[in-house]
Amino acid sequence: MSIGGDAVAATSTFGVINPSTGEVFARAPECTKDQLDAAFRSAQSAYSSWRSDEDERRKSLLAMADVLFNSINDIAPLLTSEQGKPVANAAGEVFAAGIWCQYFANLETPSPVIQDDGDALVQVVRRPLGVVAAITPWNFPLTLAFWKIAPALLAGNTVVIKPSPFTPLSTLKVIELLQEVLPAGVLNAVSGGDELGAWMTAHPVPRKISFTGSIETGKKVAQSAAPDLKRVTLELGGNDPAIILDDADPQLVAKAIFGGAFNNNGQVCSAIKRVYVPESLYDDVVDALAGYASAVKVGDGLDPESKLGPINNAPQFKRVKELVADALSNGATAVTGGHAMDRPGYFFEPTILTGVNEGTRIVAEEQFGPALPIMSYKSVDDAIERANATNFGLSGSVWSADPDRAATIAAQLDCGTAWINTHLALGPGQPFGGHKWSGIGVENGPWGLSEFSEVQAVYRSRTADGLNITTAETVS
Ligand code: NAD
Repeated sequence: MSIGGDAVAATSTFGVINPSTGEVFARAPECTKDQLDAAFRSAQSAYSSWRSDEDERRKSLLAMADVLFNSINDIAPLLTSEQGKPVANAAGEVFAAGIWCQYFANLETPSPVIQDDGDALVQVVRRPLGVVAAITPWNFPLTLAFWKIAPALLAGNTVVIKPSPFTPLSTLKVIELLQEVLPAGVLNAVSGGDELGAWMTAHPVPRKISFTGSIETGKKVAQSAAPDLKRVTLELGGNDPAIILDDADPQLVAKAIFGGAFNNNGQVCSAIKRVYVPESLYDDVVDALAGYASAVKVGDGLDPESKLGPINNAPQFKRVKELVADALSNGATAVTGGHAMDRPGYFFEPTILTGVNEGTRIVAEEQFGPALPIMSYKSVDDAIERANATNFGLSGSVWSADPDRAATIAAQLDCGTAWINTHLALGPGQPFGGHKWSGIGVENGPWGLSEFSEVQAVYRSRTADGLNITTAETVS
């Protein structure tokens, strides 16, 4: 772990499993309560000097980007070994972490003057919050860590981060490498199980919890943060619909939808998780999707031929098996796939399901794995209603030969990102967050940055009677 600039060992450890083998391949430190206290203390003592020098923060973020770019070849295989994703995608994650640092290093932070006259000069500035507790999931351990770290640091906060117990190693290693370009205590990393996350959210030091994970845990985080009125950003689960319109080219659309659904083996919060197809195109879209799903190369992420890896962990593997079995026992057909693969590790066949009903678990819940239900619709209004009839609201997409027509439909989706003729197009400058149960707040861009600070109105009186009693009474 990295605490106060030092590499800190733990008195006990837990096993980290390589999902391609199902075997423990390394051990990670189990942070004690005392060590967590030490991490928060060091973040707190680093805060006063870190918040005071924006130029230094911008330079540090650029230096962090360089460290990340230079460590791609070391970190990517480690990330693959604990997460499962193909090593090229793992390299992409480390690269993206660097890009996020660069983006925030260069993002302007305007302080608008809203009044400048004989009465007053009034400026709106942003002040950092203090120590940020960052908690991340196992699907994109590094990308999602830097969606938090980069803006939190630019805004002037210091950070303690806890990765998922399924994928702690790449985060711990990267944060250790970054110590060389950061003042001690500015960025700390601890690791442990879910209980450690709960200790963090209940801890008196952090003023902000930036959480990415499941809806169930997100609600617990919100409850734990409430008594202390800690600020929270919650990036939670999704059940993204893709609606195909009747003028779309089934082949073209199927290729892009396959990518949007099976990226990272379906383990993306904003992956396509249900597809709505007009009856006239249904068979063609299903055939094309099944073609891609049956042809894609699934294997160990360290094999450069693999395009999809295993499911990350045993509980998630069990869940995908259960949801697919439940759909099949309720009348669905697996046009391709449908089963776990007969090999060690947590491999599941890329699966395309037809004959699935709206209430079936794999449609109603977030499957977060390589199985995709395809449903037909009679009218576009019906498709929109079904797409929105859920507590999820992360993102969605509409596909058509006529982008303007698709945009009219996309505008009716209740979700944080509405894509037209694409899905999963994300960038550091684009706000990302969920409506409804998919989250509170956003990450990325100036909108995400502002969640790591609070507004302060600075009012400088220019009148001789600025302190007179009448003004004070009016204000109170
Ligand atoms: P999870 O909620 O089980 O765990 C996420 C993190 O929270 C882990 O680090 C875990 O140890 C920690 N945690 C667990 N219990 C806690 C508690 N009581 N208090 C504080 N922290 C606690 O989620 P997961 O299974 O790791 O990740 C998958 C989920 O994350 C999916 O639902 C997915 O959609 C969601 N996700 C959302 C986004 C987004 O940006 N909206 C991105 C990626 C993943």
